[in-house]
Amino acid sequence: MTIAIAIVGYGKIAEDQHVPAILGNPAFRLAASVSRRRAGPPGVPAFASIADLRASGLKIDAVALCSTPVERPAAAFEALDAGWHVLMEKPPAATLSAARQIVAAAEAAGRTLFAGWHCRFAPAVPAAKALLAGRRIDSLLIDWREDVRKWHPGQQWIWEPGGFGVFDPGINGLSVLSEILPVDIAVAAARLETPANRQTPIAARLEFSGPGIPAGAHGLFDWREPDDRWNIRIGFEGHDLLLTHGGSRLMVDGMEQPVPDEGEYPPLYRRFAELVTQGGSEVDLRPLQLVADAFLLGERVTVAPFD
Ligand code: NAP
Repeated sequence: MTIAIAIVGYGKIAEDQHVPAILGNPAFRLAASVSRRRAGPPGVPAFASIADLRASGLKIDAVALCSTPVERPAAAFEALDAGWHVLMEKPPAATLSAARQIVAAAEAAGRTLFAGWHCRFAPAVPAAKALLAGRRIDSLLIDWREDVRKWHPGQQWIWEPGGFGVFDPGINGLSVLSEILPVDIAVAAARLETPANRQTPIAARLEFSGPGIPAGAHGLFDWREPDDRWNIRIGFEGHDLLLTHGGSRLMVDGMEQPVPDEGEYPPLYRRFAELVTQGGSEVDLRPLQLVADAFLLGERVTVAPFD
């Protein structure tokens, strides 16, 4: 059975990644798009709201929710009420309580809910996880930096409450870290640098703790870095593991490891198709929990305005 899927929220990630991944996967048919501001992909029926899509009577099996995290819960409730399966872009919601409500709504509706952490589908992540399984962790650094002007041009919602600031990309690193580590991590302390004219941080430092987490384990997140750096470095039992390019490349003791040459979204959509076919759901809220804890514990520092 082909899954008739609609994209809800036609912004940067929908256009750049979701449309090609859906068109490249024979398990799916791109049946519609929903956007208030933009027409969808050429030749695909476009609607201004989920209500309009429902009213059209078009056959839809699933939706990919690609709007902002603050908007995700209402869209998810509406989609589940319509009887559709739901794929959520990261982060699944702006708060843990709302994310849990979506999980409960999906269970009540008996529909598939997939919280897709796209970076977990980066090609080198499974190999890194396999290498670390059952191992002692000796050191840990997550270094996640990029230029906000390059990657988020004109996006205002990232600076508003619920927009996550530097944790919009930073949660990707935390999704990989929580996937590959053989032990659970917690945030022990945080320092959040927020521009004087903004609501969300432009940079952050997190200290990690927990059984099996070595002293000094920490994370650096910065949106003022001209050169992208999406790295995780882990020392384990005398070895050095370095994941770079957001989980696309893996070095062990300085030697590059062979990994499949594939993007993140094709395997993410394959997983969604599997879940729909099997009647299962997959939702891991740990990355969102870590960010929430950083906001709960974080020391606030005001830095220069960002324009
Ligand atoms: P975006 O280009 O800003 O668009 C996302 C949606 O936000 C749009 O579909 C639009 O809804 C709504 N929107 C856009 N501008 C708005 C405004 N000024 N006021 C209110 N709503 C506005 O965002 P995006 O980069 O695609 O990110 C969407 C989600 O994907 C986020 O959760 C993000 O974390 C995630 N994501 C982004 C990237 C990336 O590289 N950009 C990568 C992976 C995941 P309408 O379509 O209804 O107009």
